[in-house]
Amino acid sequence: MAPAYDVIVLGLGGMGSAAAAHLAARGVKVLGLEKFGPVHNRGSSHGGSRITRQSYFEDPAYVPLLLRAYELYEELERETGRDIATLCGGLMIGRPDSRTVAGARRSAEQWDLPHEMLDAEQLRRRFPTLTPADDEVALYEARAGLLRPENTVAAHLQLAVRHGASLHYEEPVTRWEPYRDGVRVHTREDVYTASRLIICPGAWAPELLADVGVPITVERKIMYWFQPRGGTGPYRPERHPVYVWEDREGIQVYGFPAIDGPDRGAKVAFFRDGGVCTPETIDRTVHDHEIRAIADYLGPRLPTLPGTFIKGVTCMYSTTPDEHFVIARHPEHPEAVTVACGFSGHGFKFVPVVGEILADLALEGGTPHPISLFDPARFAGKLNGGS
Ligand SMILES: Cc1cc2nc3c(=O)[nH]c(=O)nc-3n(C[C@H](O)[C@H](O)[C@H](O)COP(=O)(O)OP(=O)(O)OC[C@H]3O[C@@H](n4cnc5c(N)ncnc54)[C@H](O)[C@@H]3O)c2cc1C
Repeated sequence: MAPAYDVIVLGLGGMGSAAAAHLAARGVKVLGLEKFGPVHNRGSSHGGSRITRQSYFEDPAYVPLLLRAYELYEELERETGRDIATLCGGLMIGRPDSRTVAGARRSAEQWDLPHEMLDAEQLRRRFPTLTPADDEVALYEARAGLLRPENTVAAHLQLAVRHGASLHYEEPVTRWEPYRDGVRVHTREDVYTASRLIICPGAWAPELLADVGVPITVERKIMYWFQPRGGTGPYRPERHPVYVWEDREGIQVYGFPAIDGPDRGAKVAFFRDGGVCTPETIDRTVHDHEIRAIADYLGPRLPTLPGTFIKGVTCMYSTTPDEHFVIARHPEHPEAVTVACGFSGHGFKFVPVVGEILADLALEGGTPHPISLFDPARFAGKLNGGS
C-alpha cells in the first residue's frame, strides 16, 4: 500500500511551518504534526521581534542564505498580506577588533554588502540614545532590521493550508520508525505513514534526535521590555535601529526600537549565556535580580532605556558547541528522514530559506544552497566526553 502522505513535518514552529509551506507549494501531500497549538509561546519562536541582518559576524558562509531569506521574506509578506519585516537599520557595536564588529565587517567586505563604519562620536551624534565609550565603533547596515516571529509562523501555516497541507495541532509525535521505503509516525491518536519525514523539534531535539549525535544544550533566555525615561519617542523604528553591542569581556546585549506603541516599551536582551534547562523544567518566572542586572548593565550604554520595567518573557535556545546550525539528512536514515535543529539563538532570520532547503532535501535528496557548515558529522567523535 502506498504511504498516506508524501512528507510528514514534525514540529510546526519557525522551521517546520516554513518547511510545510514550501513542500505544499510544490504540490506534494503534507501532514504537519505539532505538540501545541498554532503560533504558541512555549518554544523558541515568540516574543514579538527578531533581529535580521546581512553583515553576519558569525561567519560569511551565512550570507548567501541571508540574501535568499530576504527575498523569501518579501514574498511571504506579499503572498499573505501580513506585517513581517521592518528594515529600520542595524548597528553592530564594539571595539574594532571585537567579534561583533570585525566579524560583521569581514562579511560585509567579502560579500560587498552596503555598510557604513561609524566612530564613537558619529554614533553618539546620529543615534543619541547610545553612549558608546571613546574606543567603540559601529558597523551600520541600512538593510538590517526586525522580523515579527508570530506573524512569520502564522503566514507559513496559512500558505501551507492554502496549498492543501493537513496540519494537526495538540498532537505530539510519540515515536517514529523506518517503514518500507519511508517512515511510520506515531501519536497518541493515530499512526501515519509517509515517504519522508522532516524533524524540526526546536528545544525538544535532545529527546527526539538523540540518535543524530548532536550535542545540543537547551538554554533559558529572557527578553525584557522597558519603558524608556522620557518616553519612546527617540526609540521609534523611524529613528532607532536594532543593535548588537559587545563589551570588552565579549558579552553581547541586543535590542530593538519601540515597535508596539508609545507605552509598551522597547525590547532588550543578553545574547548568550543562558542557564541550562529543558522544555519541561524551564523556570518561566523572570526574577527581580535578573531585571536589576540588565538594567544596571544598560545604564552606561543606553542611559534612558531602563526607565520602567514592563515585562520579561522566557524563550529557549538550542545551542550546538560551535553555535552553527544542524540541517542535514538523518545520518542513519538519509533517504527518508531530514533534520533541522540546533539553531543556537540565531535561526529566525533564516526561517524561509531553511523551509526551502528542507523541501529540497526531502524531495530532491540535495539542495543548491550552501549548507556544508551545518553537517552534523562535524561533531563525530566529540560525544560522550570526547574532545
Ligand atoms: C529570546 C530569543 C531571541 C532570539 N533572537 C533571535 C534573533 O534576534 N534573530 C534570529 O535570527 N534568531 C533569534 N532567535 C532564534 C530563533 O528564534 C530560533 O532559532 C528559531 O525560532 C528556532 O525555530 P525552531 O523551529 O527550531 O523551534 P520552534 O519554533 O520552537 O519549533 C519547534 C516546534 O516543535 C514542536 N515539537 C516539539 N516536540 C514535538 C513532538 N514530539 N511532536 C510534535 N511537535 C513537537 C514544538 O512544539 C515547536 O512548535 C532567538 C531565540 C530566542 C529564544
